[in-house]
Amino acid sequence: DPRLQGISEAIRVVPHFPKQGIMFQDITTLLLDHKAFKDTVDIFVDRYRGMNISVVAGVEARGFVFGPAIALAIGAKFVPLRKPRKLPGEVISEAYELEYGTDCLEIHVGAVQPGERAIVIDDLVATGGTLSAAIRLLERVGAEVIECACVIGVREVKGQCRLNGKPLYILVEPR
Ligand code: 5GP
Repeated sequence: DPRLQGISEAIRVVPHFPKQGIMFQDITTLLLDHKAFKDTVDIFVDRYRGMNISVVAGVEARGFVFGPAIALAIGAKFVPLRKPRKLPGEVISEAYELEYGTDCLEIHVGAVQPGERAIVIDDLVATGGTLSAAIRLLERVGAEVIECACVIGVREVKGQCRLNGKPLYILVEPR
């Protein structure tokens, strides 16, 4: 797909952020580039339109940038998966491992009905820990997770084996 090169080039790499040794993939520069931003959303929309997907779940915070645009275009609802103590209603929580310690994602009870077909959106997959927590949350509320989708990911994907057999769709590799 000739659009992928423009998407890749619009992502800024910031060395040593947020700490020494990390090559941070910064998608804010992608959002400044209308064509690259629109191409990104369009590729996901073309893939998921017509698949009877009724839930687009976005991972806080950068899944909130791409998820709603995709949801609106394919006629699905958008469901935010949030960090602890952000959602005001009754929630279900799922912990996941970080490099140091653990974190947690939460979903509102009642946001998804049993049997709904869902995709999970985030900007980047590394270890797959975040996406696997998102999958577990959606499955606990009875959703069928069809696929996880990220803008950036390593193609041979260590992360993929953590996704419980769920397919992972990525657009570009880290630069
Ligand atoms: P994982 O759980 O797969 O190890 O890490 C993925 C999560 O970390 C995603 O929610 C993603 O937003 C965040 N993340 C880790 N490294 C980067 C990075 O270099 N750039 C961006 N934009 N997000 C990152």
